[in-house]
Amino acid sequence: MAKKRQYEEDYLKYSFTSLVIVGIEKPQCVLCNVVLSAESRKPSKLKRHLETKHSKYTTKNLEFFRRHEAAMERQRLDVSGSFYQEKQALVQASYEVSLQIAKQKKPHTIEKLC
Ligand SMILES: [Zn+2]
Repeated sequence: MAKKRQYEEDYLKYSFTSLVIVGIEKPQCVLCNVVLSAESRKPSKLKRHLETKHSKYTTKNLEFFRRHEAAMERQRLDVSGSFYQEKQALVQASYEVSLQIAKQKKPHTIEKLC
Protein backbone atom coordinates (compact mmCIF):
# COMPACT_ATOMS: atom_id res chain seq x y z
CA MET A 1 0.00 0.00 0.00
CA ALA A 2 2.80 2.38 0.93
CA LYS A 3 4.59 1.41 -2.26
CA LYS A 4 1.51 2.22 -4.34
CA ARG A 5 1.27 5.64 -2.74
CA GLN A 6 4.91 6.32 -3.54
CA TYR A 7 4.22 5.35 -7.14
CA GLU A 8 1.34 7.79 -7.32
CA GLU A 9 3.51 10.56 -5.94
CA ASP A 10 6.10 9.86 -8.60
CA TYR A 11 3.36 10.53 -11.14
CA LEU A 12 1.92 13.48 -9.34
CA LYS A 13 5.17 15.41 -9.24
CA TYR A 14 4.88 15.55 -13.04
CA SER A 15 1.21 16.62 -12.76
CA PHE A 16 -0.14 13.14 -13.52
CA THR A 17 -2.58 10.88 -11.77
CA SER A 18 -3.66 7.45 -12.94
CA LEU A 19 -6.99 6.74 -14.53
CA VAL A 20 -8.29 3.21 -15.01
CA ILE A 21 -10.25 2.73 -18.22
CA VAL A 22 -11.64 -0.77 -18.78
CA GLY A 23 -8.96 -2.27 -16.58
CA ILE A 24 -6.07 -0.42 -18.18
CA GLU A 25 -4.23 2.12 -16.05
CA LYS A 26 -3.44 5.28 -17.96
CA PRO A 27 -1.75 8.52 -16.93
CA GLN A 28 -4.01 11.57 -16.83
CA CYS A 29 -2.74 15.11 -16.50
CA VAL A 30 -4.37 16.91 -13.56
CA LEU A 31 -3.83 20.29 -15.25
CA CYS A 32 -5.34 19.76 -18.71
CA ASN A 33 -7.20 16.45 -18.13
CA VAL A 34 -5.50 14.86 -21.13
CA VAL A 35 -5.19 11.07 -20.96
CA LEU A 36 -2.00 9.57 -22.35
CA SER A 37 -1.55 6.01 -23.54
CA ALA A 38 -0.60 3.27 -21.09
CA GLU A 39 2.80 3.12 -22.82
CA SER A 40 3.43 6.72 -21.80
CA ARG A 41 3.61 5.77 -18.13
CA LYS A 42 7.29 6.65 -18.00
CA PRO A 43 8.64 9.51 -15.89
CA SER A 44 10.51 10.87 -18.95
CA LYS A 45 7.29 11.13 -21.01
CA LEU A 46 5.27 12.60 -18.15
CA LYS A 47 8.03 15.08 -17.43
CA ARG A 48 8.13 16.11 -21.08
CA HIS A 49 4.38 16.76 -21.06
CA LEU A 50 4.73 18.98 -17.99
CA GLU A 51 7.71 20.85 -19.43
CA THR A 52 6.18 21.44 -22.87
CA LYS A 53 2.50 21.97 -22.01
CA HIS A 54 2.75 23.51 -18.56
CA SER A 55 6.21 25.05 -18.42
CA LYS A 56 5.19 27.61 -15.78
CA TYR A 57 4.19 24.80 -13.40
CA THR A 58 7.45 22.83 -13.46
CA THR A 59 8.60 24.34 -10.18
CA LYS A 60 5.32 23.67 -8.35
CA ASN A 61 5.41 21.29 -5.41
CA LEU A 62 3.43 18.11 -4.84
CA GLU A 63 0.79 19.94 -2.81
CA PHE A 64 -0.08 22.10 -5.81
CA PHE A 65 -0.65 19.07 -8.02
CA ARG A 66 -2.49 17.27 -5.24
CA ARG A 67 -4.99 20.15 -5.05
CA HIS A 68 -5.51 19.91 -8.80
CA GLU A 69 -5.92 16.15 -8.54
CA ALA A 70 -8.55 16.56 -5.81
CA ALA A 71 -10.40 19.16 -7.91
CA MET A 72 -10.32 16.84 -10.90
CA GLU A 73 -11.65 13.93 -8.86
CA ARG A 74 -14.56 16.08 -7.72
CA GLN A 75 -15.21 16.95 -11.36
CA ARG A 76 -15.28 13.27 -12.24
CA LEU A 77 -18.19 12.87 -9.87
CA ASP A 78 -20.18 15.44 -11.80
CA VAL A 79 -22.59 14.29 -14.48
CA SER A 80 -20.32 15.56 -17.24
CA GLY A 81 -17.32 13.90 -15.65
CA SER A 82 -18.90 10.50 -15.37
CA PHE A 83 -20.31 10.85 -18.87
CA TYR A 84 -16.84 11.59 -20.21
CA GLN A 85 -15.37 8.55 -18.49
CA GLU A 86 -18.19 6.33 -19.69
CA LYS A 87 -17.72 7.62 -23.19
CA GLN A 88 -14.01 6.88 -23.03
CA ALA A 89 -14.73 3.38 -21.78
CA LEU A 90 -17.31 2.85 -24.53
CA VAL A 91 -14.91 3.96 -27.24
CA GLN A 92 -12.34 1.51 -25.96
CA ALA A 93 -14.89 -1.29 -25.57
CA SER A 94 -16.39 -0.81 -29.02
CA TYR A 95 -12.91 -0.82 -30.51
CA GLU A 96 -12.16 -4.12 -28.83
CA VAL A 97 -15.48 -5.58 -29.98
CA SER A 98 -14.88 -4.55 -33.59
CA LEU A 99 -11.42 -6.05 -33.35
CA GLN A 100 -12.97 -9.34 -32.17
CA ILE A 101 -15.52 -9.25 -34.99
CA ALA A 102 -12.80 -8.53 -37.51
CA LYS A 103 -10.83 -11.52 -36.24
CA GLN A 104 -13.88 -13.77 -36.34
CA LYS A 105 -15.00 -12.62 -39.77
CA LYS A 106 -11.69 -13.20 -41.49
CA PRO A 107 -12.00 -16.99 -42.02
CA HIS A 108 -15.54 -16.59 -43.44
CA THR A 109 -14.35 -14.01 -45.93
CA ILE A 110 -11.63 -16.33 -47.11
CA GLU A 111 -14.12 -19.20 -47.47
CA LYS A 112 -16.38 -17.02 -49.59
CA LEU A 113 -13.51 -16.08 -51.84
CA CYS A 114 -12.69 -19.74 -52.40
ZN1 LIG B 1 -1.37 18.56 -19.14
